[in-house]
Order: sequence, then structure tokens, then C-alpha cells
Amino acid sequence: MERYKENQLKIYNSLSGQKEIFNPINNGHVGMYVCGPTVYSNVHLGNVRTFMSFDVIFRYLKHLDYKVRYVRNITDAGHLENDADEGEDKIAKKARLEQIEPMEVVQRYTVDFHNVLNNLNFLPPSIEPTATGHLIEQIEIIKMIIENGFAYEVNGSVYFDVHKYNETNEYGILSKRKLEDLINNTRELQGQSDKKNPQDFALWKNADAKHIMKWPSPWGVGFPGWHIECTAMSTKYLGEQFDIHGGGIDLKFPHHESEIAQNIAARGIAPVNYWIHTNMLEMNGQRMAKSTGNIINPNELLSGDNDKMSKAYSPSVIRFFMAQSSYRSVLDLTDAGLLASEKGFYKLMEAINSLKSVSFGNSSTFDVKEWKQKCYNAMNDDFNTPILIAHLFEGVKVINQIKEGKASLTSEDLETLKTTMNSFVFDVLGLMNEAAQNNSEKINGVVELLIKLRKEARENKDWALSDQIRDELVEIGIQLKDGKEGTTFSIN
Ligand SMILES: [Zn+2]
Repeated sequence: MERYKENQLKIYNSLSGQKEIFNPINNGHVGMYVCGPTVYSNVHLGNVRTFMSFDVIFRYLKHLDYKVRYVRNITDAGHLENDADEGEDKIAKKARLEQIEPMEVVQRYTVDFHNVLNNLNFLPPSIEPTATGHLIEQIEIIKMIIENGFAYEVNGSVYFDVHKYNETNEYGILSKRKLEDLINNTRELQGQSDKKNPQDFALWKNADAKHIMKWPSPWGVGFPGWHIECTAMSTKYLGEQFDIHGGGIDLKFPHHESEIAQNIAARGIAPVNYWIHTNMLEMNGQRMAKSTGNIINPNELLSGDNDKMSKAYSPSVIRFFMAQSSYRSVLDLTDAGLLASEKGFYKLMEAINSLKSVSFGNSSTFDVKEWKQKCYNAMNDDFNTPILIAHLFEGVKVINQIKEGKASLTSEDLETLKTTMNSFVFDVLGLMNEAAQNNSEKINGVVELLIKLRKEARENKDWALSDQIRDELVEIGIQLKDGKEGTTFSIN
């Protein structure tokens, strides 16, 4: 039986502000859209946290036997410097500064993004569409919005009429903002805009002669606004209405708010049933920002080549650290926190690896079925990974007690414990078994010890023992080499 049939998943829906029972539109299938990166610079660690939260959500939905179509886009045009509609296109600006083609910028940082995510053991999404690959779809939706009277054209640009939309709909339904407050808080940019009202946003922008990223449209040569690409790509691949839309909390307004408005204006349908927003990542209690220097990029964190942390941290330790807090809480990245996670992670790996040699008993002293259910309950409660990890450590405690002879499990219960630990640790949390790497340090230590004992044997002229150590090491694939500086070894 599919696991989703025996698990009642609840998701905190940002739209309602409540945890809701998850009911997908098509039984057994889930459509999920997550706003991907704007590829004009190396991926920010805060974005990695967002994508990692959705990686775990994707993994858990798959673990529940849903057929998931996960769409995560690449923004390669249309995202202007200031998230409203002003300033230069982020990618075009980078291309101008570095004197390369915009598509070279896109290629460089898309490759970087994929490398970082691969290093951190992300599952690839089902579809990764680009904005520039979906200009026809974007233009079609803009035409529909104009036809329905919710957008207007001025000097080759098209703007969404927020005031008109708000007469019959609610602009602010997701971000809980009121249009009148937005009006009071908007600074009027006098004479700089063709907009009827400053709250209106661009669906299409006219491109002047020096603009390097531009395409033909019914309104002249130009480029799409930022919000319209996600409306075009999400509905193309997931339908007019789909299950989950996610992104960082900073995208709630104006980006996601505008996506809802565009869909309703074009098709009269609210597109998304469950909105999921992930919270921010801070470092040492402060916002990460280039301007203050309080920033670290994912590669620096992995390599240890930085002045913020005491050492390098492995991909699984970083994943484990992030999973130790709920995706809805602010997470504070600190060296002490990472060190503690590292300790916890290796403890977990050691217990899992020792499961291979643990033997079963005649009876069980621990209720494995109840424990297993608690693990599922944690994830069913809005993907509560910190609670899941607490239960996994209850499992670690039992494993260690069995090894000490203080607890026992029947063969059936032991099997359940093994499969449950493995499923959650590797399939759902996406951790990798890095204990092997940790063990290699121990093997090195053991060989060094044998080299020392062999040296002592030779000093005592105990040639038989010295040869035995050397020969038996060769048999298990470890070669000793005697040199002037002492004995070294290599492992085949
Ligand atoms: Zn988006």
C-alpha cells in the first residue's frame, strides 16, 4: 500500500496561516513549484537553505509514494536590481561589468548553482525551466491579462493594474498587506514612471537601444517583468491550479502576491492550494549581507577556506545542521552550532553502521512500532525535521543499549528499526554515510600502531613477529615501505 494512504500529512499554509491537511488535486500525484535562483552571482547560502528545505519536502513526498512533479526554475532574465520595477536587469548589469554575453553570466552561475547543490546531495527537480525559454508563454498570459482589463500598455511597456484588480479581488491576500497601506508607504518617483499608480508592476518592459537582453513582442522590443515568468512556467508544467508553491519568505511580497494576482487576472483562478515559505538564515545572530562582511558562501563553508569558521564542514554535517531546525524558524549559522551538529551526525552514523553487526534477541524491550510511528508523525506535522531527529536519536540510544546487552529486539523489530533509520536518515534527510571517511582516520591510527609495534619487534630482533606484521598487512591490502625517514604505508 502506498505510504500516503496511511499518513495524514499536514502543511502550514502561508495563505491561511494555519496547518492544513494535505489533499492533492490528483490522488497520488503532487505538483510543486519552487522559485529558483537568479543566476547572476554565486548562490547565496541563505538560498541553499531554502532549496534544502524543499529538497527534504520533495524527498519526503516521494518517500510517501506520491508521484511528484517538482518544478524549480532558473531566472535568467527579467529580475531587476531593485525588486520593484526599477533599475537594470541583474544579469545584464553583470554582463556589462564583466564585458561578457548575458548568457555567459547565466551559464557560469547556473553551473555553480548545480555544483553546490550536487555537492550537498540534492535531488534534481523534475523540470528546471528558464525564463528565456518561456517568452512565448509569458507573452500569451500578458495578452490574456490585458484582454481581461487588468493590465494596460504605455510606451511599449505593459503594467498590471493593481488598483483595478483590487476592486474585485484582494491584492495582499498572501502577504496580509492592504492596498491602502501600500499606497501610504510608496514613495512617488516623479516623472520616472509610465505607471498609472506606483503600486502597479511591470509585465513587460520596453527596451531602449542600449539594452542588451530584449525580445520582440506585440508591444515592441522589450523584456518580461520578473513575476510573470513564474506564472507562465508553473501553470505550463503543473496546470492552472496546482498543489504546492514554495520559496523564501522574502519572495512572499511582491513576487508571490503578484503571481496570485496574475493568475486570477488571466484565468479567474487562484493557482496554488498550499503556499510554503522558508525562513531566513543568519550568521552569528546577524543578517548575512555582503555590505557588512557577515557572509560566507557554500563553497567556503565546505572547504574551510574562510575566516568565519574554525574548520571545514562536510556536506552531510551542513545538511544535518540545517535539518535540526524547522524550515519555518530563523536559523543562526555558528561555528559552535556546526561543531555540535558534527558530533551528533557522527554519533548517528556510528550507530547506523553498527546495526549491521547487532544481533536480535528473543523478545523486545522497546516498542519499535510506536517509535516508527513517532518518526512519521514528526514529518507529517509540517515536515518537522528537528522532532524527527530527536526520535532518530532515541533509536541510536536503543542500538547502543543492545550492543551493551542492556536491551534486545526480536528479529522483526530489529529489521523495522534498521529500515526506518535508513529511510529517514538517507532517503528523507538526504544525509550521506560519511562515517567511512571518519573510519579511515581510525584505520590510519591502527596501521601507525602496528608500525610502531613492528619497529619494537625489530629492535628486539624478533624478526618472526616483524615479518608477520608486514606479511599479514599485505594480505589485507596494506603495503609497508621502509625508508630513511621511517616506515610509511599505502592502502590498495
Ligand atoms: Zn518565482
